[in-house]
Amino acid sequence: MWAPEYKEFSKDARRLYEKERRSKHRSLFAALEEFANLRAGKKLWKDFRKHWPDFFPSWNYDEIEEPKPNAPYDEFDELRGERSIATIADHPEHVAMLWTDVTPDPILGMLLGIVTPPLQSEVETHEDAYYTTVAYIPAHWYVDWDDGALVYRGTCGFQDALYLLSRESWRAKVCAKCEYKFIAKRPAQKYCSTDCSELVQRELKLRWWAQNGADKRRKNSRVGKRRCTARRKLEHGPEETR
Ligand SMILES: [Zn+2]
Repeated sequence: MWAPEYKEFSKDARRLYEKERRSKHRSLFAALEEFANLRAGKKLWKDFRKHWPDFFPSWNYDEIEEPKPNAPYDEFDELRGERSIATIADHPEHVAMLWTDVTPDPILGMLLGIVTPPLQSEVETHEDAYYTTVAYIPAHWYVDWDDGALVYRGTCGFQDALYLLSRESWRAKVCAKCEYKFIAKRPAQKYCSTDCSELVQRELKLRWWAQNGADKRRKNSRVGKRRCTARRKLEHGPEETR
């Protein structure tokens, strides 16, 4: 049993952590959004690392740039009894699935580091084989008995971003114009950026003009003619008097 003061301290630490995580949600979402749209390629990974150096533990990044036989993840693989071939280089594909798949389990749990992917020796189905390609970064989680809450703490920005998104999964949307996977600010948001929404507005106007423009031009020209005749009459008087 924990001493009451330790419990209080632990609750304070938890609240502080959760507050900090929420306060960072904009940058966490920006990184996750860029990540979900990442294509394969070392150069892209280097750029991503430069933009978001703390999004993954540095050894995860190193692993992609220069695979080392004695990377720290060996420790986990030893615990699991078998070396995994998966790295976070496979992550974008799995993460992108969250935007399109209605039932992302159990991969979401694996990405969050709370569900262990099957070992090679445990593979029985095609799904199992696929799940072995998910890189596993164990996260911290525990049950707060007094609060009746499951407390989750990611071990990196990626996991915290994913956790926040999973609490508000409506935010994961695909742009109706350019198909970019984005994290929406409002439920009604359909486009990833003002560029895309303005482009659509312009296209709608052009389409409307193409369909209705001829009519409008004809009407305008009739009104124009009437105005001209009226002006002529005003300036020169009725034609019979000239
Ligand atoms: Zn777009």
